[in-house]
Amino acid sequence: MRKFQFLLTFIAVCMVSTALASPLESNLKKHVKFLADDKQEGRGIGTKGLDESAQYIADRFQELGLQPPFGGSYFQPFEMGWGVQLGPNNRVQSGDTGADTSSGIMPIGFSSAGTVTAPVVFVGYGITAPEFNYDDFADMHVDSAIILCLTGEPGEFDSSSVFEGVNYTAHATLRSKASNAKLKNAVAMLVVEGPLYAGTGVEELAVPRADEPYLDCGIPALRITREALARLFPEFELEKLQRSIDSNTQPRSMQITDSVNVTLTADLTRETVAVKNVVGLIPGNDTVIVVGAHYDHLGFGQSGSLDPHPGKIHNGADDNASGVASVIEIARDLMSRPIPETVMLATFTAEETGLGGSSHLVKNFPLRLDLVRAMINLDMVGRVKDNQFSVLGCKSADEFSGIIEDANQSIGLNVTCKGDGYGPSDHMNFYLADRPVLFFFSGAHEDYHRSTDDYKRINFDDMARVTRLAENTVRGISKFSAPLTFVKSSEPPPQGGGRFRAWFGSIPDYSQADTLIGVLLSGVRSGSPAESAGLTGGDLMVQMGKVKLNNIYDLVFALRTYAPGDSADVHYLRKGAERSSVCVFGSPPK
Ligand SMILES: [Zn+2]
Repeated sequence: MRKFQFLLTFIAVCMVSTALASPLESNLKKHVKFLADDKQEGRGIGTKGLDESAQYIADRFQELGLQPPFGGSYFQPFEMGWGVQLGPNNRVQSGDTGADTSSGIMPIGFSSAGTVTAPVVFVGYGITAPEFNYDDFADMHVDSAIILCLTGEPGEFDSSSVFEGVNYTAHATLRSKASNAKLKNAVAMLVVEGPLYAGTGVEELAVPRADEPYLDCGIPALRITREALARLFPEFELEKLQRSIDSNTQPRSMQITDSVNVTLTADLTRETVAVKNVVGLIPGNDTVIVVGAHYDHLGFGQSGSLDPHPGKIHNGADDNASGVASVIEIARDLMSRPIPETVMLATFTAEETGLGGSSHLVKNFPLRLDLVRAMINLDMVGRVKDNQFSVLGCKSADEFSGIIEDANQSIGLNVTCKGDGYGPSDHMNFYLADRPVLFFFSGAHEDYHRSTDDYKRINFDDMARVTRLAENTVRGISKFSAPLTFVKSSEPPPQGGGRFRAWFGSIPDYSQADTLIGVLLSGVRSGSPAESAGLTGGDLMVQMGKVKLNNIYDLVFALRTYAPGDSADVHYLRKGAERSSVCVFGSPPK
């Protein structure tokens, strides 16, 4: 499962096994043991271990006699944006003095490439926060200027700060600062860690990670060390200014270079990596039931990791070797006792980086997507505790709660069947394509997205029961001769909607190509302001009010500037034609 803010409850894992393991249980164990072994390198994007895991799944599908849907192959390959490569020309030059990556500057991973020559304006923390009555850009024109700003926000360690003191607000992120700079028509951004809160050690600037799907922010953006800054602009008194701002939370923005122009170059290229879904078919009639699980995980702790120690292998035994193992065993059972429908067994890649694999499959579906009767997603099914189990997405078809109840008769799990089809895993892409979905999930635990999500903590006894529950569910769906009654929810997803003051209700397409400028929508929530404004799936949003939308981060930034009841012009492209409409923001539905 991808980035999911859980309230973690500490649980003790205690397992007493009395009965002998069933063949199902020992098969599940074998698969999880393979996939969650250190050799698979945490199934991170771009690792050899991920490809070997894909091959392992394909080999199992072949052994079981599943049909390969892609011209004789089980693999559905595609390219995704992944990491950046630095070029040799990253540089900031002021008169005779310069700095490069070996002497105190470094592009941020989301920086645009390019060269600009412009004056430099210091804009404090680079923050415009009307809710805190604070604006570093007040009375300061930065049109066509390079802005220099501090990391963080005023009053970083001060719990009485008008900002949130020890906790950063969203204004403190570098993304937010870049969006704000762009909104104010700055042409580039330099960021320095303020001396007030910095440690005393040598300043080291992190090289952009090779394992992040960075999105271009729209302007060149570089970090600079205090030492390099002092060399380039010896007259400039950074510490004094920061103290002044923090003493009374009043901005102290100022022009740094009056007449001297500074030339800044960000030299970097965005890379792509080849990934693949692994899909097998059990042929039947034209209607289809999809059973899926993602097989990728967080590698050595890529973005999304919650591990306190960076760099450790994240084996992801529960997330989601467990789901993949179940899918393989469901295939085995359905091969020996087939149902009339075609069953698609789909294991997805790139789930942890934004549901990329399932999005690709839904858009490039080898069968008729409109004949998909239901999609069942297994993501984290190996840690049943106290016999409790969740089936989410239950409200996405009228028949589901009855089907689950029947399926569970012989299993006896304490099943909670609830929720619409929105959620942070692959079923959501099928739900957005108006297919009924179910999401099998054994619950949150303290090892979620940590290096401790290991094989030994899986409860295989209960996992076998979950696998049976999923099989029974497939058979239960098969009993209906007519399509299930799809229910589209008007509720917002459990995460996200409440984070912003203003509710818009757009559903971004997480698999949007990194090179596409704008925010591509895969849909809008029914009853939302976005829907009222006439937006729909496929629209490419390019502007909201004054904010130019280069990517999803700009949209998040734009939404933060509105309150319920505010309105804004939204510009978007539909089939190449530019359109605009007025949107009135609402409050997130309860
Ligand atoms: Zn996950």
